Amino acid sequence: MGTQQFDIAIAGGGLSGAMIALALRARRPDVSVALVEGGPAIGGHHVWSFFATDIAPADRPLVEPLIAARWDAGYEVAFPEYRRTLPTSYRSITSERLAQAVDAALPDGAVMTGAPVAALDAAGLDLKGGTRIAARAVIDARGIGPSHMGVLKGGWQKFTGQMLELAQPHGLTRPVVMDASVEQHDGYRFVYVLPFGPTTLFVEDTYYADAPALDRDAMAGRIADYAAAHGWQVTDISREETGVLPVVTGGDFDALWRGHPPGVALAGVRAGLFQPLTSYSLPDAVRFAAHIAALPDLDGTAIAAASRAYAQEHWRGGRFYRLLAALLFSAAQPGERYRVLQRFYRLDEGLIERFYAGGSTPADMARVLAGRPPVPLTKAAMVLAGVSVPPFLKDNR
Ligand SMILES: Cc1cc2nc3c(=O)[nH]c(=O)nc-3n(C[C@H](O)[C@H](O)[C@H](O)COP(=O)(O)OP(=O)(O)OC[C@H]3O[C@@H](n4cnc5c(N)ncnc54)[C@H](O)[C@@H]3O)c2cc1C
Repeated sequence: MGTQQFDIAIAGGGLSGAMIALALRARRPDVSVALVEGGPAIGGHHVWSFFATDIAPADRPLVEPLIAARWDAGYEVAFPEYRRTLPTSYRSITSERLAQAVDAALPDGAVMTGAPVAALDAAGLDLKGGTRIAARAVIDARGIGPSHMGVLKGGWQKFTGQMLELAQPHGLTRPVVMDASVEQHDGYRFVYVLPFGPTTLFVEDTYYADAPALDRDAMAGRIADYAAAHGWQVTDISREETGVLPVVTGGDFDALWRGHPPGVALAGVRAGLFQPLTSYSLPDAVRFAAHIAALPDLDGTAIAAASRAYAQEHWRGGRFYRLLAALLFSAAQPGERYRVLQRFYRLDEGLIERFYAGGSTPADMARVLAGRPPVPLTKAAMVLAGVSVPPFLKDNR
């Protein structure tokens, strides 16, 4: 009970909320920040991965202390008719590191966990139990929320990942970011493998599927089959995570913001700040945090207006990725979806880096869409324009 006063109150201590708190402490130490998380720990229980080139050099000091694993020997992709090793470095951060960094950067009493926000407005947060966190500015970073439902169109990326402890060294030296040479099920399927230690592998079974239902047991079975096929003898599964993330082909940006109290800024996936096709948000979370910390004016109205303008620009810039998502989901038969990625991975490595970072140039876009596409573009364009694709077009390939 009672009231506490801060300059900025952030609801949601996940990836985006924590990144904003860290950026503000690093660049605006004069500003007091409260980070309020409903769950038991900042960041939950996650591993977030990204390419080193996703993060601008100026923002790397923000991310560097959070990195728990790094791979500098490039990464691999594999498809039924094509394999490639690319040179780009790969990184993972963990929620444990994120929580430690937040604890070290923010003063006592500024980080609250196990503190669900019951309601918020432009002047503060009301916690369940009655405490009021009053603030000059409020940022809602509570992750995917009810406002997303029915507003974003597209499909789903769903996955189960397991940290496998092995009896013998696996010998892998670099991540396998996409092994789509596996049997295809439920849309586009691939396996993702991160070698965290000589006898430790994170193996994730991933699907670009039309429906969000996740069959955890079937996925766990396929991870076991994948391990067995590679001769890996599993002695323990030390961590498991599942995810169902939206892959966006279209939607109504304004509707995403409707229903939020006026004067409150949105951040993270709640603001639509993720790459529409990969659903990954780490690069955007870092960029947005840096953007907020660089605002000349940090009062509530200024931050709320800046967050909306930033997200609007991000939505506009996402059109190309939504087109590609439409290509993947609506133009191709589920069993043929791998062809879209197989063709994409033959392209220039710089173009692929910019794609993951969400920074594709007009020349990249022209290059991706040039030549004979692996699936018909007209269908994807119709999906993007909101026109339903007639069944005869859906079935002709
Ligand atoms: C299993 C999984 C793995 C992923 N891996 C990657 C990856 O490798 N790389 C990548 O770029 N992206 C990844 N993503 C996608 C995306 O980056 C994450 O979903 C990311 O965590 C989104 O950040 P966020 O801050 O917007 O939301 P979240 O990280 O979900 O944070 C929202 C926070 O708000 C809290 N909260 C919710 N309601 C309340 C409330 N009422 N009061 C207080 N707190 C509340 C939640 O507990 C949560 O901690 C992954 C997603 C999942 C689910």
